[in-house]
Amino acid sequence: MRSETTSPDVGALALLPLPNVSSLSQRQTEGTICVWCGAGLIPYTARDLGSRPSPRGGQIFPRGCGKCVREKASDTYKLHVSHCDACLRTEACPDRMGLRSLASQGAP
Ligand SMILES: [Zn+2]
Ligand SMILES: [Zn+2]
Repeated sequence: MRSETTSPDVGALALLPLPNVSSLSQRQTEGTICVWCGAGLIPYTARDLGSRPSPRGGQIFPRGCGKCVREKASDTYKLHVSHCDACLRTEACPDRMGLRSLASQGAP
């Protein structure tokens, strides 16, 4: 079974912090290249980060390469578990599960 947009990591992708949005190039805001490292994206490995508000109005549609998504997910996971109420009480947390799954995805 192919995982579609309903997979738990989609919510987690929206949690990953972007670089300063106002400094992004048009190609980064369109998702043509990785929003973090600027690498060209192959459709198969690119991860859609969801639409984000643009400082110039409207929305941007950034995407990341597999390597950056794993790195950012790992950083965000560590930050998340030290701040999230549910995680601090060791309750089930969909964000934690999504971030962990993103951070552990195999290299493309
Ligand atoms: Zn990248
Ligand atoms: Zn949590």
